[in-house]
Amino acid sequence: MSKALRLSEKWFRFGLWIVAFVFASFLIGLGGTVVKNLPKVEHYYTQEDFIDKAAAARARGIIKEKQAARQQAQEALDQAQLKHNSARANSAALHESFNHWLATRHATQRPEQDAELIARTRDLDELKALERKALSAMEVQRQALLDAQQAEAHAQAELRELERAAGEKLGTELRHQELRVFGYRLLLTLPLLGVAGWLFAKKRQSTWWPFVWGFIYFALFAFFVELVPYLPSYGGYVRYAVGIVVTVLVGRSAILALNRYLEKQKQAEALPDAERRKELSYDTALARLAKKVCPGCERPVDLTNTAIDFCPHCGICLFDHCGQCQARKSAFARFCHACGLGAGKGG
Ligand SMILES: [Zn+2]
Ligand SMILES: [Zn+2]
Repeated sequence: MSKALRLSEKWFRFGLWIVAFVFASFLIGLGGTVVKNLPKVEHYYTQEDFIDKAAAARARGIIKEKQAARQQAQEALDQAQLKHNSARANSAALHESFNHWLATRHATQRPEQDAELIARTRDLDELKALERKALSAMEVQRQALLDAQQAEAHAQAELRELERAAGEKLGTELRHQELRVFGYRLLLTLPLLGVAGWLFAKKRQSTWWPFVWGFIYFALFAFFVELVPYLPSYGGYVRYAVGIVVTVLVGRSAILALNRYLEKQKQAEALPDAERRKELSYDTALARLAKKVCPGCERPVDLTNTAIDFCPHCGICLFDHCGQCQARKSAFARFCHACGLGAGKGG
């Protein structure tokens, strides 16, 4: 593909490469859309799909009920506490006034006040009883609050356990789903890669090469860019296995290609000069000469040295003399640069 030396041909080839890339980019866009929509064939799972629904509903019901009970008990406790405080203040106030009165009575020693003493003592006892009652009402509410709190905590623990079990099941299911989605993607992209491999082997030089190369780029992109990020991370097994297989395949074909090339070169170098010259295309020979390598064996040759007419490595003729004017000229030129005589004619 890089052998073209004519200016227009070069530009045409450049344009055709652009066609290949544009074709590949549209195929990639289409393929990407297909791959992106693949997970929609699977159900989107949540923890709720795996939880023991009856048990969870029961636990949630208990939690709700106990929260309400706790709230109620707290409010009642606040009220009871207020009542107890006020009862205690009442009894303390009466107690104080009774003590003062008693002190006065001791001082005056008036026995006619004994009846009042009894009445005051009874009042004080009544207030003490009220205080005691308020306290026990408060204790009842405190107990109710504690019961509600503990029941709620138990239900919470039960629900957490249910959720943990459901979470485990969800994780397993998600891993399976991931593997299934990966399988679908592999089924889609692997045949593409196969077709691309066949096109590369058989059709890369065909007239329609821009489309062939566009498809090859698309298949490579679909496999290594669209698929690889979705590989499940099962300890990297799949990722590394695919990497190893692909590397071995690519490496194997590269080694075989190198050996084929060397074998072909060896056979070519054994052929007579005229036949080797026929095998080489004019543009290939010129391109290799421009890179200062022998067109026959591709080894470096000093082309500026006018003493060198033959490749010292493979013996192919690099420079000869015109049959008409005897000018020294490139053996690969079609015409003599000095007199214009066609190569191989004259003398
Ligand atoms: Zn050579
Ligand atoms: Zn000449």
